Amino acid sequence: MSCCIDPSSAWSSLATRSRSAELRRQAALAQLRDALLATDRAALAARDPIAEVRCLPQAEWEVAAHLVGAFCYGAVPQIRKTARHLFDAMDGAPTHFARTMRRGELRDRLGDFRYRMTAADDLDRLAFSLGSLHRSHGSLEAAFVATGGEGEIIARLGGYVEAIRGCSPEPLSRGFAYLTPHPASGSAIKRWLLLLRWLVRPDDGADLGLWRAVDCAELIIPLDTHTSRLSRALGLTSRTTVDLQMAREVTAQLATVAPLDPVALDMPLCHLGIARDCLHRYAEAICEGCALRPLCGWAAAKPSRANRKK
Ligand code: SF4
Repeated sequence: MSCCIDPSSAWSSLATRSRSAELRRQAALAQLRDALLATDRAALAARDPIAEVRCLPQAEWEVAAHLVGAFCYGAVPQIRKTARHLFDAMDGAPTHFARTMRRGELRDRLGDFRYRMTAADDLDRLAFSLGSLHRSHGSLEAAFVATGGEGEIIARLGGYVEAIRGCSPEPLSRGFAYLTPHPASGSAIKRWLLLLRWLVRPDDGADLGLWRAVDCAELIIPLDTHTSRLSRALGLTSRTTVDLQMAREVTAQLATVAPLDPVALDMPLCHLGIARDCLHRYAEAICEGCALRPLCGWAAAKPSRANRKK
């Protein structure tokens, strides 16, 4: 007896299976979106570096966000402490201070202050450059529009970064380059993408809603340790290198369920890790009630009961 499989019917059954797997995945992604969007963002903001910006009068937010965004690396309490120290040195009015300062004035006020890779002189250079751009264009948003040119968001950001660097009178130093990474490097440029999220997304008690010149749909997720690891576990990317390409892939996946504002999902994802509401491994007490579980590779790989008893 010969065994003949009709190739066209085999392909169609495979296609049906992969279509239904994709539908299940989309349903799980939509569930993830709804769970994340239900998070109280103002409550998250109270535990986030953005809280230090929001403490200031609204007229200060744009410059203040640029400064805090630039040194938003390391542990949240240290970032917040640095922001408070910096704003105190700027008399609580970073916009006015940056617009009117002489080069070196902030460095002199900060003295031997240092935050990890960032020295007082690096902050002085950044504040001086932002102040120059603010004076020339009337706002940093207008400077972004004027210096970014046309093209997609990363190309425009590249032009803006060059303009900021170009306002500093001295050659680019290592510390200033670290505060103003160039998107052409291909790195995840988390701090710039976080700043754009703060400036562009509507004021929801966390993000600031200051810039109208960029559309929320253009934003790219600012990947940090937590969000990159979670993104891999949730199947939003298969890349292992945390770079701009990974950020684009994750954003594209989020956009399948939140096309107008994919980066709205960033803050709750990020705070899952910061607040240790996700331990990046299966933990029965947490994972059994987690809304992300249907997509989570860590939960899928949970040890069997027998193995857990060993
Ligand atoms: S199921 Fe567990 S490991 Fe997975 S995202 Fe939720 S808390 Fe984290």
